[in-house]
Amino acid sequence: TKSDLIADRKRLLGPNVATFYDDPVHIVKGEGVWLWDADGRKYLDCYNNVPVVGHCNARVVDAIARQSATLNTHTRYLHDGILDYAEALTDTLDDSLNTALLTCTGSEANDVALRMAEAVTGKRGIIATDATYHGNTALVSQLSKSNVPTVGFGLDQYFRFVDAPDSYRNPDPDGTKFAAAVAEQIAAHEASGTGFAALVVCPYFLNEGFPNHPDGWLKPTAKVVRDAGGFLICDEVQSGFGRTGTHLWAHEKMGVVPDVLTLGKPMANGHPVGGLVTSAETMAAFRSGYRYFNTFGGNPVSSAAALAVLREIQERDLVENARVVGEHAQARLRDLMAKYDVIGDVRGSGLIFGAEMVTDRATKEPASAYTDRVINAMRQEGFILSKLGRHKNALKIRPPLVFSVDNADMLFDGLDTVLRDTPR
Ligand code: PMP
Repeated sequence: TKSDLIADRKRLLGPNVATFYDDPVHIVKGEGVWLWDADGRKYLDCYNNVPVVGHCNARVVDAIARQSATLNTHTRYLHDGILDYAEALTDTLDDSLNTALLTCTGSEANDVALRMAEAVTGKRGIIATDATYHGNTALVSQLSKSNVPTVGFGLDQYFRFVDAPDSYRNPDPDGTKFAAAVAEQIAAHEASGTGFAALVVCPYFLNEGFPNHPDGWLKPTAKVVRDAGGFLICDEVQSGFGRTGTHLWAHEKMGVVPDVLTLGKPMANGHPVGGLVTSAETMAAFRSGYRYFNTFGGNPVSSAAALAVLREIQERDLVENARVVGEHAQARLRDLMAKYDVIGDVRGSGLIFGAEMVTDRATKEPASAYTDRVINAMRQEGFILSKLGRHKNALKIRPPLVFSVDNADMLFDGLDTVLRDTPR
C-alpha cells in the first residue's frame, strides 16, 4: 500500500529526501504533459521542467535506447556523441561561448563555474541573491539560501548576498538598484581582502519568484561586474532551453552574455545531464590549473539524449510554443485576478508564470497558508503545481514546453473552481 511505501522510503532513505505534498502522489507512468498514479488517476503536470519535450518523448527514448544498445562508457575514450552535442549546443550561443564541459548535474556545473572564476580572476569573492538555489555541493550549497546549509566548511568569508529582485514589493524597472546592490557587495569583498571573482545569478530569477522585468534588465549589473574584473555566471539550469518563451536562453532576454553559462535539469529530459559553456580561453585557463575528470559527464548515452532534446526543441519550435501558450496563460490568470482579490500579482514569461497570493492587495501580506490549500486542492482536481518565492506564496506553474493552449484552459478552469471553493 501507499503508506507502506512512505514508511519504506523513510526507513531506507532517511529524512533528507523530501517529496511533494504531505500525501505524496505515487507516480507510475508519464506521457507528454500527463502523469498517472498507481490507482490509474491522471494528472496534468504543470510543474515539471525536467521532461521539457514531454514525459517519455519518443525521440529521446529512441536515442537513449539505440545508444545504450550500441555503446556506453566513461568519458576517457574518444567518442562522437559528446562532440556532436557540444557543436549543436555552442551553435545556439554567442560566439564567445564556444567551449563546453558536460557534467551530470546542475550543482556540479555551478561548482566548476565558480572554480573557473577563481582560476581566471585569481580572486575568491562570490556574490549571489539571498533567495536562490544553485545546488548541493559543499561549495554551491553555501550560496543556496533557499535551502539553508547546515555545514559551512569555513567558506562563509567568500560569499556575500544581495536582496533578490522583487518587482511586486520593491520595483526596480531599469535594474539600477540591483546593480548598485551588487556594486556595494563587490566593494565589501575588495575591502575584506578576498577580492571579487563572480556574480552568479539565474538571469530570470526563477527560484526567487520570477519578477517581471523588461528585456535587457541585467545590463547595468553586467557592467558593474565587468568593470570590477569579475565573472558573470548565468545559472540557466531553470531558465534555459526556451523556458521564458521569447529566446532559447534567458540571458539573451536579459541583454547580457555570461562569462560562464551553466545548464542542467531539462537538458536531457530527465536523463542526468548538466554542463557549462564558456570561452576557449577560460576553459584553457581553468585546465591549466586543474585536471577535470567526470566519470559519467558527457557519456555517449547522455550526449545522445541531450542532442535529441535540443533537436526536438529546435525542430518543433517549442520556444515559440512557450511564448504563445504563456501569453494565453497569463491572460487567463489576469482574468482570475479580476475575479479573486487573493491574487495580488500575475507575472512570468513563456512557460514559467504564476500568481502571488495575498490576504490584502493594499498591504501585500502573503497568503502563504492559503497558497498551500490551493495547491492541495488543485492536486485533488488532477493538477500538479507548486509554489516559490521568499514568502512561499507564489503559485509556480512551469510545465513541459509541449504544454498547449487547451492544457492551459483546463488548468485555469480548474483553478477557477478551486479559488471559488477553497475558503480563505
Ligand atoms: N541551479 C538552479 C537554478 C536550480 O534550480 C537547481 C536545481 N533546482 C540547481 C542549480 C541544481 O541542479 P541539480 O539538482 O541538477 O544539481
